[in-house]
Amino acid sequence: MRLKCIKLRFTIKGAALSVYKVAVVGAGPAGYFTAQAFQKAQRDDLSFAIDMIERLPTPWGLVRSGVAPDHPKIKTVSKVFEKITKEPNFRLFANVELGKDVSLKDLRDQYDAVVLATGASTGRKLGIPGEELKNSISAAEFVPWYNAHPDFSDVEVDLSSDTAVVIGAGNVAMDVARILAIDPTELDPTDVAEHALAKLKQSNIRTVIVCGRRGPEHAAFTAPELRDLPKLENTDVYIDSKQIKEAFKHIEEMDEVEKDLRSNIEAMKAIAEHEKKGVARKLEIKFLSTPIEIKGNGKVEEIVFQRNKVKGGKVVATDQMFSIKTGIVISAIGYDSMEYPGVTIESGRIRNIAGHVEHNVYAVGWAKRGPTGVIGTNKSDSTDVVDLIIDNLKEPKTSEGITTLLKSGHEVIDQNAWEKINSSEVISGENAGKPRLKVVDWKQLISLGRS
Ligand code: NAP
Repeated sequence: MRLKCIKLRFTIKGAALSVYKVAVVGAGPAGYFTAQAFQKAQRDDLSFAIDMIERLPTPWGLVRSGVAPDHPKIKTVSKVFEKITKEPNFRLFANVELGKDVSLKDLRDQYDAVVLATGASTGRKLGIPGEELKNSISAAEFVPWYNAHPDFSDVEVDLSSDTAVVIGAGNVAMDVARILAIDPTELDPTDVAEHALAKLKQSNIRTVIVCGRRGPEHAAFTAPELRDLPKLENTDVYIDSKQIKEAFKHIEEMDEVEKDLRSNIEAMKAIAEHEKKGVARKLEIKFLSTPIEIKGNGKVEEIVFQRNKVKGGKVVATDQMFSIKTGIVISAIGYDSMEYPGVTIESGRIRNIAGHVEHNVYAVGWAKRGPTGVIGTNKSDSTDVVDLIIDNLKEPKTSEGITTLLKSGHEVIDQNAWEKINSSEVISGENAGKPRLKVVDWKQLISLGRS
């Protein structure tokens, strides 16, 4: 890799220009919006040299390995990311792992600021008996499996039963449920992983039941995603209209009802009332059901729930239980940030105050605030942290940056190599009538970058 030496202070039209070196760790939405915020903050006397470091040989984070393949519009944000990379002060260092190839301490020493945009990739646990049974899977594994993440191609997914249960009432649970419930031929024109599509085409699952522990008025789904459900062509979607009527009663008792909450309940009412097509594929959303135990002999066979009710605005357990016979349980109940040397995880995220971690280290995105918000939420979040960084900047350091830290011969996927991978995937996708054919194998990705 060619070494770019950065002069630290020089003068343009009389103004002293300070060039600060910043490392952004994690090439997902929060990382790119941080890079963009640094670019936008540049002035005659202030400039940034941005090095983006990414563990995988491919960038884009959850836009590549999280966003559902049947939601291609959400992925168009990658065009914004690629525009950011065109600026001369941006460099990509993919296939470089923090904690293994470079340490946080070394980055701290080499850069004026280090921004951790490392997300939250560990699926939260239900903590109930039977959770460890075969085919009880976290969305943190299932989603990257169907999205061709190189670390998850080997996840064992058995779709031989007729019913699947998804735990959680958030957008990830909805993505997972939709992928299991739609006719897999609907995924033909998408960038879903080839191995997942083949498995989904053999799936016996015809009923998918999404279970939320609280009521519709507490669900974490968002209205646009809910409104899409009745439009599914080959799947009937069910919500018990009694639960929706109850939810309307409860929100009328509230002092103030947020607009988003009302539109969520309206969207769920539309689902409940929507005329069914009478097709074999069903997706049901069930509320007020807390999972208590997963049962099975070596593998998932049944899941037991406690029924809840809403009393005085609070969700309380009843003494009623019910169970669902199922061969697969997927829990989509949120994520925690992964631990690595040099950071402390507290309440599932990197310990920080308004993005400041310690010294010249900062956090953004899910690593900073936990797994909340949509992709766009990261834009304002990253801008706030970059403003804070700028306030805290001292004299620019006289150091070389990451190139002095990597072992000689370490194969970096830089922007040029990534563009080769990207165009190869897009070209093979064109031939197959898809936006891209994702390469799953790590070594193959690296060799494509070399080509
Ligand atoms: P989420 O929105 O926080 O939803 C998590 C769900 O899990 C909640 O319904 C929560 O219920 C439930 N839950 C938590 N612990 C549980 C337990 N022990 N037992 C049963 N249920 C439990 O998280 P997410 O779905 O992972 O989504 C993460 C973020 O990504 C969200 O901001 C989401 O909107 C976003 N996202 C957006 C899109 C999109 O825009 N299309 C797609 C995917 C994800 P309680 O509320 O009762 O805790």
